[in-house]
Amino acid sequence: MSSVDTVRGPVALDALGQTLAHEHILFTDSEFARFYPELAWGGERSAVVDDVVQKLQAVRDRGIDSVLDCTAILHGRDMDFLKEVNDRVDLNIIVSTGIYTFDYLPHHIASTSRFTNSSDDILTRMFLRDLTVGVGNSGVRAQSIKVAVDKAGFTPNIERIFRAAGKASAETGAPITVHTHPADRQSAKALEILTGEGADVRTIVVGHSGDTTDLDYLREIIDAGAIVGSDRFGLYLIPGTASEEERIDALVTLAGEGRAHRIVLSHDVVLYSDWSEPGALDKVEALKSWVPTRISDIILPALRAKGLPEAEIEKMMVTAPASLFVNIAR
Ligand SMILES: [Zn+2]
Repeated sequence: MSSVDTVRGPVALDALGQTLAHEHILFTDSEFARFYPELAWGGERSAVVDDVVQKLQAVRDRGIDSVLDCTAILHGRDMDFLKEVNDRVDLNIIVSTGIYTFDYLPHHIASTSRFTNSSDDILTRMFLRDLTVGVGNSGVRAQSIKVAVDKAGFTPNIERIFRAAGKASAETGAPITVHTHPADRQSAKALEILTGEGADVRTIVVGHSGDTTDLDYLREIIDAGAIVGSDRFGLYLIPGTASEEERIDALVTLAGEGRAHRIVLSHDVVLYSDWSEPGALDKVEALKSWVPTRISDIILPALRAKGLPEAEIEKMMVTAPASLFVNIAR
């Protein structure tokens, strides 16, 4: 039986069940957390653990079985935190490697590979270490690679990152989730670079695609063989992005065309972050919908109300996310 690694150990691919394909359990800058812990944790770290456990338990209570945590280098991954949380919530948590940046690279990455040939890029080596040995000394292997391209487009640094991700994916079979800025229709270029390095297009998620109402663009992603990430349910305050209603209608249309098996759903929610003062986001009215239970409580019932058959929902919640791991499962 082929299985994927999770924080708690291997899980059979066909046991992943309902899966949220793009969430973030924790963002904390490690230097910030190390030297200003009271600021990073907004008080006691243990209170943050309790809060995150509660939020994940709510997800579990809705019947979600697995979460792909797309937190990457520069997001501040914290495996001890994940283990502590996962000890208390019965969920499969799959972790990622990759790097979250729209251009910037830390000096040790920007400089290290300058005098070596590109096949020896330090980024590839970092990704491969996470995928084959494990993240840090946690013993938990990352099973997915996260990269990003945003409004700045494919700068030399971003292209370098994509090439490193493509190579690491080709070597390990790891899927890739790409943060994109869909208004700029970056899918074709992203897929070209990643597959050019040997990545399997079938295991690439073009993330945040659900933000656009351009159905032709979404069809283009699926027809190229990749996966559409309609992965920001609940987050509607970014100007120019689709409303909840438009996102739901897009899913109904695409599923009606036989494309549901190439769509994954998620919230891109961050359960705890040091990017804002503790509790500050909870007070923003427009973010009240941005909770990891939005899909279970609101979106799936809305899809059913619009007549979408259960089998189509299962393709987006179970089959498509599991299919990401076909090449890395062992
Ligand atoms: Zn994300």
